[in-house]
Amino acid sequence: MASLSAPLDKVRIIARIRPVLGSEREMDIVVKNDSNLVIMPNPKNEKETFTFPFHAVYPMESDQAQIFAEVSPTLKHLFKGNDVTIFAYGVTGSGKTHTMKGNKAPAERGIIPRLLTAIYRRGKELEKKSNGEMSMCAIMSYYEIYNDKVFDLFEAPNKRTLAGLPLREQHGKTHVVGLTEKEISTLKDFETLYDMANNNRSTSATMLNSNSSRSHAIICVRVEIKNNETGETKIGTVSCIDLAGSEDNRRTANDKERMVESASINKSLFVLSQCVEAMQKKQNRIPYRESKMTRILSLGQNNGMTVMILNLAPTKKFHQDTLSALNFANRAK
Ligand code: ADP
Ligand code: MG
Repeated sequence: MASLSAPLDKVRIIARIRPVLGSEREMDIVVKNDSNLVIMPNPKNEKETFTFPFHAVYPMESDQAQIFAEVSPTLKHLFKGNDVTIFAYGVTGSGKTHTMKGNKAPAERGIIPRLLTAIYRRGKELEKKSNGEMSMCAIMSYYEIYNDKVFDLFEAPNKRTLAGLPLREQHGKTHVVGLTEKEISTLKDFETLYDMANNNRSTSATMLNSNSSRSHAIICVRVEIKNNETGETKIGTVSCIDLAGSEDNRRTANDKERMVESASINKSLFVLSQCVEAMQKKQNRIPYRESKMTRILSLGQNNGMTVMILNLAPTKKFHQDTLSALNFANRAK
């Protein structure tokens, strides 16, 4: 495997603080920011404060367009044929799904639909500029990892096998055997498939008597840029991951199912932090084979750019779990 020597700006770790919700009280805010620092009191001793540096911190009032502007520079890596990985990490209720998926209203759209729009725009421009010499093709897959098993989100939940999809190694790459791949020719195609898969995700969580916050949702778009004259093709993949909630449920878990869920989430998040740390420190060995998720992503192996977004809920209710999430991100830095 080729060794990695990424310039520092190829891994960015940013924090986004979500606003106080209608159901929460302003006076309970514990997370503050000052330029690129997140500041929070020690939940065990409020006189002591902790400070965590990030590449950037987006305060409560930041909108979806500003967050997208943070990740849009990844597109140039993607179109060069490199891999791009964007993670949303944080406690359940901190704004991961809002950041990644968002809502239907144009201003509320999250990173994923905006990224797809940008990919199509760029592809069209490329085709036009080259007078049809170059063409772009985008292929999408969407799966979740629950209890360390891979489930295809294009597959109806009642067709799932409990064992999940197997992995296979080929030419040094890990493939999910049987995972559906859909070519998306238009943005409308994308919207339809994306909505269907998201529906499958919530239905399957209900069927498993779980909650979609206990699984990682991973959407991959493979972008193939072909020179129609020479046949040369560049292939880059962008993966956007809405991670399982980072809270430690072992404290509150009261049944075996939940304990198993927590153990597998803890392990995969731990390996992820080790991989990001190794990438940050430009270490040659990235332990990406040590969890299913990082292995499928081949994290850091075709290195374009990795962005980790730490979503933060600002209020007291989340204080201890927010501190753990900040420590996680700081470790990865
Ligand atoms: P998570 O996916 O981390 O569990 P969600 O994205 O579901 O969290 O967010 C929890 C709640 O907070 C949702 O009601 C969501 O609409 C709201 N929310 C999160 N981030 C924002 C934001 N930046 N602006 C407005 N509402 C937000
Ligand atoms: Mg969510």
